[in-house]
Amino acid sequence: MSIWDVLARHGKELIEHAATRLQFHLSTDPVPHLWVDILTRNVPLARGLTPHDQERLLRVARLLLDEVPFEGCDGVEITEDIRVTIAATAALLVHRLPYPRFTKLVRVLVYPDTFLPVRARSWHDVAVEEPEATLGQAWMSGVVVLSWSAVQRDATSAASGNVVLHEMAHILDAEDGIFDGQPLHDDPSQGERWAATLEREFAIQRAAVEAGEDAPLNDYAARNHAEFFAVATEAFFCTPDRLRDRLPDLYLQLSRFFREDPSASSVPA
Ligand SMILES: [Zn+2]
Repeated sequence: MSIWDVLARHGKELIEHAATRLQFHLSTDPVPHLWVDILTRNVPLARGLTPHDQERLLRVARLLLDEVPFEGCDGVEITEDIRVTIAATAALLVHRLPYPRFTKLVRVLVYPDTFLPVRARSWHDVAVEEPEATLGQAWMSGVVVLSWSAVQRDATSAASGNVVLHEMAHILDAEDGIFDGQPLHDDPSQGERWAATLEREFAIQRAAVEAGEDAPLNDYAARNHAEFFAVATEAFFCTPDRLRDRLPDLYLQLSRFFREDPSASSVPA
């Protein structure tokens, strides 16, 4: 049984003890040179990491790749480029946490370009759908659907959003069985602070959008708490200075959750 299975079964109870298990399961074998090249080329958000942290990021990505099958749709042939780009970008969300977190992720489907919305298989397998439902989807059952062209579009340092971070944030959110913008926190008091901040800052976002004002986040974040968390996660990694300026409390809580401060490493304007 892998740590993935253990965490999926026992969740919260094991989180405190998972750090040492992860260290045990994170192979110390060097990652392939090709992976480092792909990271350099396709994951600009990792360029600020030290070589040591980049290597660890790729080891976390390997953990994900070992556990989660990738499937090409509509003619996509799954390549190392596709696998490593998506897994390393996803790993940005969790590589500073003391345990792996994509316990609910069971499969990644990759389409060449925009795709028609996929229907959930049953009423209880809720899918989180995107604006035109064409670039990415996350299902409660742990399926993530991505457009490779959208992933590539976001693989530039000028990108203000990132579809992989968005959908994987939904998967983090779904770990407790509900899309509500509240991921599992290892410290319960942190969870309470997060819930209070989420309520307050979501209200600010929704009021700005309804008034037609310049909202702190992409308008889509006003749709519900789940989308607010996913869009805020994109902003935290892609445009951290703006997020810190507009919603400083939210930035602080995200910084505690993801255990980093991307704004601090940004080049001052
Ligand atoms: Zn979404």
